[in-house]
Amino acid sequence: MNDFEFQTATTVDEAVSLLAAKGDRARVLTGGTDLIVQLRENLREADLVVDVKKIPELIQYSLTEKGLRLGAGVPCYRIYGDEAIRKAYPGLVDSARIIGGWQIQSRASIGGNLCNSSPAADSIPTLIAYNVICHIAGPEGRRTVPVAEFCTAPGRNVLKRGELLTELEFPAAARHSGGAYLRFIPRNEMDIAVVGAGAWVQLDAKGETIERARLALAAVAPTPLFLADASAALAGKPATEATFKEAAAAASAIARPINDKRGTLEYRKHLAGVLIERSLVGAVRRARGEKWDPHV
Ligand SMILES: Cc1cc2nc3c(=O)[nH]c(=O)nc-3n(C[C@H](O)[C@H](O)[C@H](O)COP(=O)(O)OP(=O)(O)OC[C@H]3O[C@@H](n4cnc5c(N)ncnc54)[C@H](O)[C@@H]3O)c2cc1C
Repeated sequence: MNDFEFQTATTVDEAVSLLAAKGDRARVLTGGTDLIVQLRENLREADLVVDVKKIPELIQYSLTEKGLRLGAGVPCYRIYGDEAIRKAYPGLVDSARIIGGWQIQSRASIGGNLCNSSPAADSIPTLIAYNVICHIAGPEGRRTVPVAEFCTAPGRNVLKRGELLTELEFPAAARHSGGAYLRFIPRNEMDIAVVGAGAWVQLDAKGETIERARLALAAVAPTPLFLADASAALAGKPATEATFKEAAAAASAIARPINDKRGTLEYRKHLAGVLIERSLVGAVRRARGEKWDPHV
């Protein structure tokens, strides 16, 4: 690891000016659970590391009738520790609960998971399924980007020189809606998803017909994938096994994974279908007010 300067920012403006001054030699530190490992293993280099955990906007969240505004630096344990978030955004909780073990979850943030931009990141399909808006601050002011457009390549995203992610904005949790996230890993803990699948649905008042849906996959392409066509095709369909199977077939067809030590291309395409079907079942059950546990 090379020597680097360490600064703690207390406002967004201060963080932006520190980052802008050093350009691509500067790195934001939130939980550090990706960054410190990458610096130590020389996978990334930095001359300046800017800790953003003292910036109020980044470590707060608010849940109102308008939705959830989640500071980019809020650690996972605070998310699943909040009963109101567990009720309103159970898919987010599915993700936050499986990012590493307890020690990692006490540091790791959803913002860091997104900005690390791994194709296999466990929060990103969930963020895409919930149609989250990313709030970004930089030298040219503030802007927003839909999360489905945030990642551009493995480890890369839309953030420009001097920019940082400040908040994630979740739309209001509508009645008769539900979300779920599932991943497959060969071991039960601290592993990278072979495939991850997120689903969100809005049902009619009877809980029988899907009005809207959003599906997303991780670890089957260079970036997490929003399954736009497969999601649109669900609108107006009955929330039945036959419909879920159609979505599963579409997900398998869209997935374009690589062969690696964690799974072959064919295996991952198959898994993409299986997990989309199961996460859809979970999202529908939750939308109907039923209990659904991703771990059984
Ligand atoms: C033992 C272990 C197990 C893990 N298990 C999992 C797992 O199961 N699933 C999973 O998805 N990940 C896992 N991870 C990876 C990591 O914990 C997560 O990606 C975590 O959410 C990263 O959050 P962080 O706050 O620690 O990010 P950091 O390490 O602080 O930052 C990650 C990257 O994002 C950038 N960044 C952070 N915040 C911002 C911001 N606000 N604006 C701009 N850039 C920013 C940083 O510069 C860095 O490049 C694991 C890591 C470890 C060490």
